[in-house]
Amino acid sequence: MKHTTVIGAGFGGLALAIRLQAAGIPTRLLEQRDKPGGRAYVYQDQGFTFDAGPTVITDPTAIEELFTLAGKSMRDYVELLTVTPFYRLCWESGQVFNYDNDQARLEAEIRKFNPRDVAGYQRFLDYSRAVFAEGYLKLGTVPFLSFRDMLRAAPQLARLQAWRSVYSKVASFIEDEKLRQAFSFHSLLVGGNPFATSSIYTLIHALEREWGVWFPRGGTGALVQGMLKLFQDLGGTLELNARVSHIEAQGEAISAVHLQDGRVFETRAVASNADVVHTYGDLLGQHPAAAAQASKLKGKRMSNSLFVLYFGLNHHHDQLAHHTVCFGPRYRELIDEIFNHDGLAEDFSLYLHAPCVTDPSLAPPGCGSYYVLAPVPHLGTADLDWSVEGPRLRDRIFAYLEQHYMPGLRSQLMTHRMFTPFDFRDELNAYQGSAFSVEPILRQSAWFRPHNRDSHIRNLYLVGAGTHPGAGIPGVIGSAKATARLMLEDLHE
Ligand SMILES: Cc1cc2nc3c(=O)[nH]c(=O)nc-3n(C[C@H](O)[C@H](O)[C@H](O)COP(=O)(O)OP(=O)(O)OC[C@H]3O[C@@H](n4cnc5c(N)ncnc54)[C@H](O)[C@@H]3O)c2cc1C
Repeated sequence: MKHTTVIGAGFGGLALAIRLQAAGIPTRLLEQRDKPGGRAYVYQDQGFTFDAGPTVITDPTAIEELFTLAGKSMRDYVELLTVTPFYRLCWESGQVFNYDNDQARLEAEIRKFNPRDVAGYQRFLDYSRAVFAEGYLKLGTVPFLSFRDMLRAAPQLARLQAWRSVYSKVASFIEDEKLRQAFSFHSLLVGGNPFATSSIYTLIHALEREWGVWFPRGGTGALVQGMLKLFQDLGGTLELNARVSHIEAQGEAISAVHLQDGRVFETRAVASNADVVHTYGDLLGQHPAAAAQASKLKGKRMSNSLFVLYFGLNHHHDQLAHHTVCFGPRYRELIDEIFNHDGLAEDFSLYLHAPCVTDPSLAPPGCGSYYVLAPVPHLGTADLDWSVEGPRLRDRIFAYLEQHYMPGLRSQLMTHRMFTPFDFRDELNAYQGSAFSVEPILRQSAWFRPHNRDSHIRNLYLVGAGTHPGAGIPGVIGSAKATARLMLEDLHE
């Protein structure tokens, strides 16, 4: 039997490949890079392990489901460790908020900032849970293929005031500005501007409260390896260094996938986990319907990009939490500049990853492996030369971290590397160097997002951040469930 092809071994591609293979559909996974994972790539250097991307692992049940449906136990493939506190949020004023799953401890943290906000938080939590039930549990893994699907969801979206932004909804419950930041920054984890993204994204708070925050032993890369092993144990085929150059379509159906190295694989169907603009514009650009879709997608708003700096130190900073958010002097104005302005702001807010707090094996004894990221505009918003801006921003961030969070950093430095919007564009084929694909605003969500099954080419499917429901590990694993359902219906016909 001809294989079915999944292009791209990101979390979405891997999860879909597992579902197809487990259902008896012979599946070939094609990945252009030398390792799987996509945004969850791993760098290894001088005994340091650096997870390139996702580090906050939420909804372990969605991951476990992949193993269970294949008749396996997740524990035989990967161990998930709890992370406490979930995050430490810090401001330049010296104020610290430990973001925790324990209700009493969380309320005590809130009280430190504003006692009146404890009651407001409780109402926010109720709201967030209601959105989570509707937007994640009910709609997070079902495809939106017709406008009718959207209309069916409309009354609930209206009831939850989905037209309001995350920040405005949080602000309706909470008075203190820093607490508003603490409960609204989460949409940035999936590329959403808290001042523009639908309040549906407040569901991330309830999701974290429901299942906690986890970290795989050995790093996120160990989870990628566990999923890959599961796929291969089921008989699936992975090809690395397999860059797809184009997808061959005969009329309204795909017949083969061509690799840059000249190999051609005939295929029953293709699911692309690659960037959606790259898929329609570069891989299928010769097909009129795909070319039209590519130019439509180029008119959509893309999420911001990121500047990521990985570094290994000969010192372990045990004063840090595993996840720290370092808020800079400005919040609303900075975010507005990142999403809407042509240029790089003078200030920044940072996310600092210190995984050795949970798993010391990620660095040589006594050392620490770290990464720090700053949200920055994508290349369509600010056409910057990152070969110049990258080293400048690196130096500013190292100096800032040394001053505020990691004394002695620069003298402890053993190795470092940068990943800039140029790398998102060139290494991952991400349109405009976006880190999270199509921006998750209401008019680009659900039915308005590129569909899990293409409407013209009958055996073309999408999976990953660019399709429904969207970015983030729970999102792309949910997209794999939605896409697999469609593919299994079609392929078993
Ligand atoms: C720095 C960073 C930190 C993040 N932190 C978190 C976090 O803590 N928690 C969280 O839940 N989410 C986080 N995210 C978001 C999350 O990582 C992504 O949304 C998710 O991993 C994207 O998965 P995906 O399935 O869409 O595929 P991707 O990871 O985008 O993978 C797509 C794959 O397709 C391959 N490909 C592209 N073109 C071709 C081609 N022509 N031929 C063959 N292969 C091709 C690419 O090489 C890549 O491997 C983070 C993202 C980044 C960048």
